[in-house]
Amino acid sequence: MTSVLPEGVDWPVLEPGSVWLAGAGPGDPGLLTLHGLNGLKQADVIVYDALVDPRILKFAEPGARLDYAGKRGGKPGPQQRDISEHLVALAKAGHRVLRLKGGDPLVFGRGGEEALALAGAGIPFRVIPGITAAIGGLAYAGIPVTHRDTNSVVTFVTGHMAQGDGPPALDWPAIAKGSPVIVIYMGLKNLAPLAATLIGAGRAPDEPAAIVSRASRPDQRVVETTIAQMASDAAKAGAETPALLVIGPVVHLRAGLDWLGALLEGRLLEADPLGRFAKIKP
Ligand code: SAH
Repeated sequence: MTSVLPEGVDWPVLEPGSVWLAGAGPGDPGLLTLHGLNGLKQADVIVYDALVDPRILKFAEPGARLDYAGKRGGKPGPQQRDISEHLVALAKAGHRVLRLKGGDPLVFGRGGEEALALAGAGIPFRVIPGITAAIGGLAYAGIPVTHRDTNSVVTFVTGHMAQGDGPPALDWPAIAKGSPVIVIYMGLKNLAPLAATLIGAGRAPDEPAAIVSRASRPDQRVVETTIAQMASDAAKAGAETPALLVIGPVVHLRAGLDWLGALLEGRLLEADPLGRFAKIKP
């Protein structure tokens, strides 16, 4: 049926009346999974978020209905409960439903809430993981989330609360102390308060930070900065959403690992024979 998929695997069938909850990855269509592609080829309704790259939606079959269910950066959109109810209603009407979200559906994606609503309504569903922005997006920026010489732990945190402004109320001193590398989702609008929070929690103002905008998309941009400077540097550079913020010594590794920049500019990356890039200390 789905000739685009490799042979030799029993690819699952998206049955009428069921929902697949899939991650689309950070942008580059090549980062979609084969299960995700399989869902796109079988779905008759695709309910997608603002973060799903439009190039991926083009993989849908010509007759499929594309339902936008996005909200982005505080802009109004359907309420979460409405989306869950919509998915249940579509499945009950006998559709083959693909719910497609940016990155991974279960990482700051509210996929768990939607899956629980489906479970509660007795709708069969499958979860298809995606490459989350912090991992795939930072890889496209040439920044590893862990590196043997710098960190054996990494923290993913949201920089924005669903309700209210400002960074979430977390044990920031514990995070600052325990996690050399911190990757912050949804933090672009809160850079100044996040900088104050991180410095107040014990991180050095001159510590490396990077803002990775629109990672893995054609207009990806990376601003390398420091905690103290990140808000003003992002404003100066006109950094756009969606964007990730990464704090910690791995940012410096980009000097030797910005493979995408090297490919686009037709230059070769320099490996430092003394291991300068490999031996950056926190
Ligand atoms: N479920 C998604 C995250 C949704 S929260 C995932 O797993 O990636 C939305 C946040 O994800 C954005 O505010 C941004 O911080 C991050 N994000 C998603 N796609 C991104 C991209 N291509 N580049 C940079 N950040 C991205």
